[in-house]
Amino acid sequence: SRGADRPLASQGAAPAPPVRRPRLTVLSGPSGVGKSTVVAHLRTMHPEVWLSVSATTRKPRPGEQDGVQYFFVDDDEFDKLVANGELLEWAEFAGHRYGTPRQAVLDRLRAGEPVLLEIDLQGARLVRESMPEAHLVFLAPPGWDELVRRLTGRGTESPEVIERRLAVARIELAAESEFDRTLVNTSVEDVARELLALMQID
Ligand code: 5GP
Repeated sequence: SRGADRPLASQGAAPAPPVRRPRLTVLSGPSGVGKSTVVAHLRTMHPEVWLSVSATTRKPRPGEQDGVQYFFVDDDEFDKLVANGELLEWAEFAGHRYGTPRQAVLDRLRAGEPVLLEIDLQGARLVRESMPEAHLVFLAPPGWDELVRRLTGRGTESPEVIERRLAVARIELAAESEFDRTLVNTSVEDVARELLALMQID
């Protein structure tokens, strides 16, 4: 909503200077739409852009490193993060839990740096509730067939996991209207560029 961006102190004689708050940008969308590919590309173009590293209870995929793609934790550790209020949001996705460590995000925003979260739809909704000024960006697939191809083509998941993810994706596609912006993932380069523009990074 535009109203949230307007400075509040506009009643006095002198017009308030425009407030440029550091922006929290949330990239969400159906699983398999290519969010992580877009983010990875964005980071090769702009390595200085800080991306929140989530905690997850899922096991690392080949090539994934603890502290890089995720902090890989067990159920007890995740329980503690939740109980101690250390997560800005968390959600269960396809049988595992994923959450955004709160402090790191707040520190970056306070330092005036743009922050990017790449999280699922439930998480995006929770961020909207707790941080209404967040900018929610929906990454849409060019079409359903393309989404199915991507979800089945990753080759690392069992048929059951893929089926579960497709079911979630069907529901998630309908959530587009809740977002501030939609970017259609026609090309990784284009979407990464559009996302950088939205984050006011040039
Ligand atoms: P994957 O297991 O494929 O890496 O991620 C599965 C889903 O979890 C993706 O849609 C991804 O965006 C989402 N996800 C990753 N980290 C977080 C997080 O911290 N919070 C939430 N809510 N979702 C996350």
